[in-house]
Amino acid sequence: MLRTARRQQARLLLAAILAAGLSWTLQAVTAGAAQAQVATAATPSASYTSPWESIDAINGGIDPPQSDDTQNARWGTWPEEGTQWVQLTWGGAVTVASADLYFFDDNGGVRVPASWHIEYLSNGSWQPVNASGAYGTAADQYNSVQFAEVTTTALRAVMQSGAASVGVLEWKAYGEGSGQQNEWNPPSNLVQPLNEVWAHVEDTYNLDFRNFGWDQVMATGGKINYCVRWDSQASVSASLRDGIEAKLQEQYQLWFDQIVGWNDWPFDHIDVNVVGWAAYDRDLLQWSDDSVDIYINDIREDAPQCSEDCGRFFHQDGNYPNCPGGYDRHYDQSLWLTAGMGGGAGGDWGQRMGSEYFTGALGSSQITIYLHELGHTFGLDDFYDWTPTGQCCFIMKAGSSATITEFDQWMLRDWWRHLKGRYGL
Ligand SMILES: [Zn+2]
Repeated sequence: MLRTARRQQARLLLAAILAAGLSWTLQAVTAGAAQAQVATAATPSASYTSPWESIDAINGGIDPPQSDDTQNARWGTWPEEGTQWVQLTWGGAVTVASADLYFFDDNGGVRVPASWHIEYLSNGSWQPVNASGAYGTAADQYNSVQFAEVTTTALRAVMQSGAASVGVLEWKAYGEGSGQQNEWNPPSNLVQPLNEVWAHVEDTYNLDFRNFGWDQVMATGGKINYCVRWDSQASVSASLRDGIEAKLQEQYQLWFDQIVGWNDWPFDHIDVNVVGWAAYDRDLLQWSDDSVDIYINDIREDAPQCSEDCGRFFHQDGNYPNCPGGYDRHYDQSLWLTAGMGGGAGGDWGQRMGSEYFTGALGSSQITIYLHELGHTFGLDDFYDWTPTGQCCFIMKAGSSATITEFDQWMLRDWWRHLKGRYGL
């Protein structure tokens, strides 16, 4: 720690000297002085780590005495050679523009690399940073690199081995952004499985998609309007209609109770309203009041559909100029209830399941299939072909849990902490 403090003092002194004499460097130097060393807030990982070495060494905050450091923990790949990498992953976004890497070199099985470069994670793929100078490979000192700033949640230093295997003693990255695990404090046994889930999400989905349930509730200020697609020949009383709306409200809240007050989530409550019903025949809907808009026999996908002019799925800009009932009667999601259907489906468009199942579950405190499908609306994935480490049972693993579990809760939170930046939070 003392070494680090001295180093920062030296930087500030240098900044003062340069600022006095050379106004053109003032901006660059003061910008540099304002940047924090953010690497220590990251979680390290690597392509390979020799069993007797430690990946935690690379961002432990210790300035090594020399490349052949025999005192402190080290990261090395012996006997693995070829392309090797170390990675820093942050809990939130950081904006970084420079880094220092101190190589491990014991003059034997681990030597400085032949070459190396830095990559950053961009929408799920690794891209090289645009470095302004050469990537040095000197021993016994930090090798500093400046690059065009990137905002990301992960960096990699990718090394090509030279005379032997490779290793790193310390990696520092400078920038802004808490990168802190901003209230990211899941129980320790959930950290690894949550990281596995998020890595899978990044590999599988385009996170630039702009119609997740998150985008919908943020666009509407915490309100979700539904239209019910009544894909059944059974009749619906006014009290069944109202019971369905009340149940949607209650079940929605079961998910969002998991995130209230957490990490800048702005709502205490999601206000859920049913604004429309679509049916095959007006006579099936046994009410005459105009509390909801009614769409009759507009058949899409072999089922009654509410007006596309009113649907968020069709108008992701949130404008509904041709919706008969105007903005107030637009719907963000559909509850599509199909007679005789088993199982369900869910997505940004809403949730689908059996009409008998849903109406038969109105007396239950948890409508399991609905809750699972609603999870999909908010990006949560299925787990048909794999199970995160140490987890057996949670609602997003179909058939394993009837209720939302702590693991489901933290998966929901993980989505929010990764997406909230797009709303300026
Ligand atoms: Zn599913």
